[in-house]
Amino acid sequence: MTEQTRFSLSENDIPRFYYNIAADSPVEPTPVLNPQTKEPVTPDFLGAIFPMPIIEQEISTERYIEIPEEVREIYKLWRPTPLIRARRLEKALGTPAHIYFKYEGVSPSGSHKSNTAVAQAYYNKIAGTKAITTETGAGQWGSALGMACKFFDMDLEVYMVKVSYDQKPYRRYLMETFGAEVFASPSNRTHAGRAILENEPNSPGSLGIAISEAVEMAAISNGVKKYSLGSVLNHVLLHQSIIGEEAIKQMDMADEYPDVVIGCVGGGSNFSGIAFPFLREKIRNGRSTRFLAVEPKAAPSLTRGVYDFDYGDTAQMAPIVKMYTLGHDFMPSAIHAGGLRYHGMAPQLSALYNAGLIEGVALDQLEVFEAATLFAHTEGILPAPESSHAIRAAIDEAIDAKNKEEKRVILFNLSGHGHFDLSSYNAYNKGELRDYSYPEEALVNISTRLPEVKMGLTA
Ligand SMILES: *Cc1c(COP(=O)(O)O)cnc(C)c1O
Repeated sequence: MTEQTRFSLSENDIPRFYYNIAADSPVEPTPVLNPQTKEPVTPDFLGAIFPMPIIEQEISTERYIEIPEEVREIYKLWRPTPLIRARRLEKALGTPAHIYFKYEGVSPSGSHKSNTAVAQAYYNKIAGTKAITTETGAGQWGSALGMACKFFDMDLEVYMVKVSYDQKPYRRYLMETFGAEVFASPSNRTHAGRAILENEPNSPGSLGIAISEAVEMAAISNGVKKYSLGSVLNHVLLHQSIIGEEAIKQMDMADEYPDVVIGCVGGGSNFSGIAFPFLREKIRNGRSTRFLAVEPKAAPSLTRGVYDFDYGDTAQMAPIVKMYTLGHDFMPSAIHAGGLRYHGMAPQLSALYNAGLIEGVALDQLEVFEAATLFAHTEGILPAPESSHAIRAAIDEAIDAKNKEEKRVILFNLSGHGHFDLSSYNAYNKGELRDYSYPEEALVNISTRLPEVKMGLTA
């Protein structure tokens, strides 16, 4: 009996269309508000920071949007990504469950972020953008966009959270090798950065602050520079849908269908990427699948946040959107999963979670690294600390299936490899890693720290 482990598609199977959940979501989209007026944004507000093709995708309700040939050509460098049955992990757990993972770590920069980076760079290029500004936490997004900007011959300016800039220099070197200019954030190049530095000269920075700086530089550039975001927004989730579209075909090759689809959530893009095509099958074709979004206890926006309008960034320059949020001034503790330290969650994912179509769970740091190590020992891949949240949840599902003596088909997204996170693994191996739960004070009265929006217009 041959036991197939790896389910590979050919170049021809790279999706030709992005799937847009807005066409099938049972929840009405909520408006995006201008951070100054707190009223729905006008096209020229968004136009100052995003190119037109991206704005069109952001508000589109078309079910399928064609992937440009130029973008598909570049996807061929790493797509389709493999779907792998984690047979050795199943054995180690002694579970009757079947565990599958979609491996996005095979992209050149090592995570799913290249999927949207290439698309965003392309749409900027055809709109005449000369340079892109962005933020990055640990550097996954910055390095993906660095590659994409080089491919399309555009300049890139990256505001990198200071603590990562200092402590995780290798991804910075990667970005710089791709030709990007990288600044530690808060920087003194922007009003937002200078305001923070005045109060707190040694600020470690945060994703919210870095977003403020990148948005400001685009907004004051007279259209020369545009801003690009690696998660949260509708168009990013749209681009990531190719993960789930491929996975549907691959599960079919395996002659199985997932009972549960799992992904880690920072801003929500890799989870939505794998989940939304399966959610379409549930909504339109009556398939029964559970969806589980996994977040860190240090930034538990879904499980502990409020569902309300909040700024996308700390300095209140970015649009206000309705999402699960911990408050735009929330400072997450320094967990090693840098990509999951964001105060909010994608509005589309938030709405579906609020409607009960998606479940959420929050995990602690140590249980996540324990799972990551078991995964490396059995499957050979060293996972990114972010992705390891999904691994832990998949293992917990498999153990639950074992206890209940049921066959369960589990699919999770392995969003990236952990080759740039070796100092985190070193700390774990030496027993120096701790659990960080956020101080309870920061999780109460969140609503009192949110902007007052013009309710008549947003109801
Ligand atoms: C950025 C990142 C995440 C978190 O971002 P999402 O938008 O929630 O997917 C997860 N995993 C990896 C490897 C990342 O780089």
